[in-house]
Amino acid sequence: MEPIKVENVTVAYRKKPVLQDISFTVPEGKLIGIIGPNGAGKSTLIKAMLGLIPKASGTVSIYDKPYTKQRKLVGYVPQRGSVDWDFPTNSLDVVLMGRYGHIGWFKRPGKKDIEYALECLDKVGMKEFANRQISQLSGGQQQRVFLARALAQDATVYLMDEPFVGVDAATEKAIISLLNELKAQGKTVLVVHHDLQTVKEYFDWVLLLNLRKIAIGPTEEVFTVDHLQKTYGGRLAFLDQTKL
Ligand code: ADP
Repeated sequence: MEPIKVENVTVAYRKKPVLQDISFTVPEGKLIGIIGPNGAGKSTLIKAMLGLIPKASGTVSIYDKPYTKQRKLVGYVPQRGSVDWDFPTNSLDVVLMGRYGHIGWFKRPGKKDIEYALECLDKVGMKEFANRQISQLSGGQQQRVFLARALAQDATVYLMDEPFVGVDAATEKAIISLLNELKAQGKTVLVVHHDLQTVKEYFDWVLLLNLRKIAIGPTEEVFTVDHLQKTYGGRLAFLDQTKL
């Protein structure tokens, strides 16, 4: 059983296709990077998988069942920039939102949920900021809180949209070690990533995307200059090929 199976997914914004006939499966327990230039459809793919935007066609299965039946198994870390950080709430409450699948809406979180949420904050080094308003956190701290929320969800499959954007080097290291920890627990983590220099170091597998699927598979097989040229076209000339 594959943790993620995407079949023939096409997405269009106002009739303009931004993802065309995307199909792939990923194996369990891997860290997978989704790589492609700006506007390639990476975010759109994640959102379409989660049913946040409509698909023109295609299906997404999580462990052989439609996504809609498996929501609880899937954790999502949205792009930090897509969130209203002025919303008046503190770090702990954001993390507790990750528990709602377990608590049930309209019920108040119990002591155990709060303890678990605090544990998750601790894992990302943010326990001391539990009562801090999210508007008063730095970008890296906000990203850590998002990760704590995903941890609190205790999902099996994680979809993350650019978790490394706008964070300092220490936070980037903390995030990657957390992702490796999730992997060690047998979880499957799909990460939209734009920094080609770190792909080989971070990811077991890569999905190269630009409107269509260019290639998917183990990083050492798929992350090649030839495939990158197909993905980035002329823009690859600007990249430091010595690191590829
Ligand atoms: P990436 O994440 O790879 O940078 P996106 O998935 O954000 O790419 O965007 C893919 C394409 O879809 C781009 O051309 C973008 O302009 C377009 N797009 C994204 N969101 C919307 C939207 N809400 N309405 C219309 N077009 C959109």
